[in-house]
Amino acid sequence: MKHKTSLKAILLTTLLQAKALTVVLLLTIIGAIVFGLLPPLVLERAVDRMTAGEAPGLPLAVLYFAMLGLSGLFDAGKEFLITVLGQRITRGLRSAMCEKLSRLPAQYYTSQDPGATVSRFVGDVDTVEALFASGIVSMAVDICKVCSIVAVIFVKSRGLGILLLLLTPVLFKLTRVFQKRMLAAHLDNRKAVSRVTHHVPETIRNIRMIHVMARESYMEQRYGEALEDSFRAVERSNFYDAIYSPIITVMSALVVAVMMLCASLGGSWQALFGMTVGSAVAVTNYVGKVFTPLESIGMEIQNIQSAMAGIQRIREFLNQPEQADANETLTAETLQGSGAPAVALEDLHFSYDGKQEVLHGCTWQVGRGETVTLTGRTGAGKSTIFKLLLGLYQPDSGNVSVLGSPAAEVPAKLRRHLFGYVEQSFRLVPGTVVEQISLWDDRISLSDVVSAAKLVGLHDVICALPKGYDTPCTESLFSQGQFQLLSIARAVAADPEILLLDEITANLDAETEHLVLDALQKAAENRTVVSISHRLYSKSAGRQTAIG
Ligand code: ATP
Ligand code: MG
Repeated sequence: MKHKTSLKAILLTTLLQAKALTVVLLLTIIGAIVFGLLPPLVLERAVDRMTAGEAPGLPLAVLYFAMLGLSGLFDAGKEFLITVLGQRITRGLRSAMCEKLSRLPAQYYTSQDPGATVSRFVGDVDTVEALFASGIVSMAVDICKVCSIVAVIFVKSRGLGILLLLLTPVLFKLTRVFQKRMLAAHLDNRKAVSRVTHHVPETIRNIRMIHVMARESYMEQRYGEALEDSFRAVERSNFYDAIYSPIITVMSALVVAVMMLCASLGGSWQALFGMTVGSAVAVTNYVGKVFTPLESIGMEIQNIQSAMAGIQRIREFLNQPEQADANETLTAETLQGSGAPAVALEDLHFSYDGKQEVLHGCTWQVGRGETVTLTGRTGAGKSTIFKLLLGLYQPDSGNVSVLGSPAAEVPAKLRRHLFGYVEQSFRLVPGTVVEQISLWDDRISLSDVVSAAKLVGLHDVICALPKGYDTPCTESLFSQGQFQLLSIARAVAADPEILLLDEITANLDAETEHLVLDALQKAAENRTVVSISHRLYSKSAGRQTAIG
């Protein structure tokens, strides 16, 4: 099945789904630019009337405030709609990425640091939202604003227009210098804050070792250094922030002062800079307005740059090769009726990284209903064979088949009824005791869960809990041995054909081991069992196969 994973396709689909929103946003943007230009022009007329000794009149005053109100309204509407559209894009992107995550092969997770993947979901997607919310769209709006203001100023005063044209690049450069320094300070602070926030859980996790090894002062010193770095970075950022605004205010006042001075010089200067009092008021108003979008454009360039890096990382993620498609035509009946052995490996070669081979030509098979124990030195590849049987990895060469079909082709929906996999340690999921066993699989009823718990001898322990089977499960609810029993209950609840047991008694005391082995013996009846163990788990256990 082909999945839509191109970033462009995801963005286009989201924008098309929000067609009405996009059109309204465009209209709002035009409104914000036009109504942003009008109030100083109305003000100019009012002041000119007053200087001519006439009253400006109520309609003009009402018009002025109406224009101001509309300008503010369109601006607010524009911000709101850009945010809504940005959030829609983020939601579309995150759900496409989440779907992709479940289609990635297990190899991806061995070669990638989980933190790197998480940061693609969080930080990188946020930068794409910023690309819309405070990047491309806002930059286009701000460029339009600057151009239209400069154009109006040109009409009102050619001299001031030229002055602003000359000043704009200087001002823009200055703004960028400040922004880059502030960004560097922000990044330093973010790094320091992440060190600070990691330090606390790390200390809590290792607190016993820290006390036993007397490392308290070392931990305090590390925490202090991270705090100090963060403090210095925040100070730097505050300093740039504090001096930028006064510099802009002084520059804007200087422009107005130069304009006034030149207008008072007479002659050709007067022709270039001279204007009515009303125009002077309007132009002063515009000069104040031109600095804000210029400052925003600098920030928007920054956002677009970081969004580009984020987009690149999201694109890399979406282009990751996906796991092989399962053979959806396979059914439980076809597998059961195939007459093939339960499990068969044929000249199997496998490496995790494509370089270092872990399995070098393994060939063996397990007949239906047979019990086989895999033995071998540590690191020989015993657990790896289980991962290949579960279809998590593809062999480099040779075959891994389950009931006559390649393991990787077994559809996910059949897997739980085919395999009961008990790992060396229990994987707790957030939820109740029932959910630990059923894993929210609606094919497993409450009575299946209770039967599985009875089979492993945990029923009475669970009934004694405050809410019985509905007790929320935490790490301290059961002992390690009881969790191992719960793990077996989880494996047998779906009544699987084949049990895969990976050194499940390795960390248990003799008495608990006895309990677990007893539970297993019952669970193994009428099933194929492949176990990895240093000891045979049943007196009547079948043959042993050495790996490596
Ligand atoms: P043990 O008896 O200690 O459990 P094992 O026979 O089960 O050992 P495996 O866990 O299959 O051994 O590992 C075989 C080799 O594959 C080891 O050298 C290990 O370093 C490597 N290996 C295991 N899992 C991964 C992985 N996810 N990515 C890369 N290499 C791995
Ligand atoms: Mg192992």
